[in-house]
Amino acid sequence: MYKIMTAGPSQVRENVRLARAMETTNPDIDVEFVEYYKSLCDKLEDLVNSSGRAYIMGGEGILGLEAACASLTEEGDRVLVIDNGVFGRGFADFVSMYGGEPVLYTTDYRKAVDADELRAYLEKDSDFKYATLVHCDTPSGMLNPIEKLCPVLAEFGILTVVDSVAAMFGEPVDVDGSQIDILCGGSQKALSAPPGLTMVWVSDKAMDAMLARETPIRSFYANLLTFKSYYEDKWFPYTMPISDINGLGVAIDNVLADQDILGRHARVAEAARAAVTKAGLSMYVDGCYANTVTAFEVPEGTSDAAILKIVKEKHGIMVSSSFDVFAGKLIRIGHMGESANAQDVRQTLAALDDAFEMEGVKLACSMAKAFDEAYK
Ligand SMILES: *Cc1c(COP(=O)(O)O)cnc(C)c1O
Repeated sequence: MYKIMTAGPSQVRENVRLARAMETTNPDIDVEFVEYYKSLCDKLEDLVNSSGRAYIMGGEGILGLEAACASLTEEGDRVLVIDNGVFGRGFADFVSMYGGEPVLYTTDYRKAVDADELRAYLEKDSDFKYATLVHCDTPSGMLNPIEKLCPVLAEFGILTVVDSVAAMFGEPVDVDGSQIDILCGGSQKALSAPPGLTMVWVSDKAMDAMLARETPIRSFYANLLTFKSYYEDKWFPYTMPISDINGLGVAIDNVLADQDILGRHARVAEAARAAVTKAGLSMYVDGCYANTVTAFEVPEGTSDAAILKIVKEKHGIMVSSSFDVFAGKLIRIGHMGESANAQDVRQTLAALDDAFEMEGVKLACSMAKAFDEAYK
């Protein structure tokens, strides 16, 4: 078994794994299951301060992103795709797949999207049904200020779809306060359940937009409206993956019991960044660091593959490389949820120290030692 320090999935606590092994009922016809499902949705709404409705859907995190686009997009709709990272740009594919016209708002991949610049752009063109944004764009470790960007979009009457799959529960999310219309999350990042479930939070405004469509949603599985009256009807559009949901329920309780979850992410991430930079490595993004993942550039004289291989095979730890435009360029330490603890991050940095030494790359100092000094 490897220690999972990747940019998702994250480590899973034993109580979550055990919950997935519990005896199960028939979730289609047992009203107790509907009540349990509803109780989890209520907790999810509270956790991110949403007065709308949360739904848990069977399918990995990507399903939520696709469902948001499938459910809002009609033929010819213009959609603003805010692009300063791989997931940011990726939304354009979902928009076009469902007949919309994605308009890319592309900014520097090293910098967070700026609210004033976005406003200036919208003053010239704001004819968009909705906009897509990514909170933590994981391939680069970028954190976007959704709490500033979504209110600007709302000023112009544009609905907002936010992918916070890799940020929520490691970074603050306030759905009502930030005027987010559809928020997307996944089970396998800071929530620390295994992959397999997506969570979406839908505002009243987003629900009204779906109900006001002139054409039907071009999907069944990715149709958010099919969940709308599950509780009143005691009926789900498809059989719910009950064991996954039992695990998720315990993972949600773990988060609720963890009073210091955001503080822990912040402390671990700050010390990890201090260690990486003190050792002479370069963070990829400039200032806008997510507290769930640390992404740094692969230095001269080695490769991401060589470093990952040593860290995995000699030290039993998995870290991530990156992909798409960052393929071969970055190494990423995931410290989200259960993986966001000082001991595991320190051990990962010690393994990286060793891997760089074996590869003949001279660091300015030991990252493990620098982490100890920086960790408060
Ligand atoms: C992990 C993640 C997702 C879910 O997709 P994967 O299949 O796990 O890649 C969606 N958005 C972001 C930003 C993520 O980090």
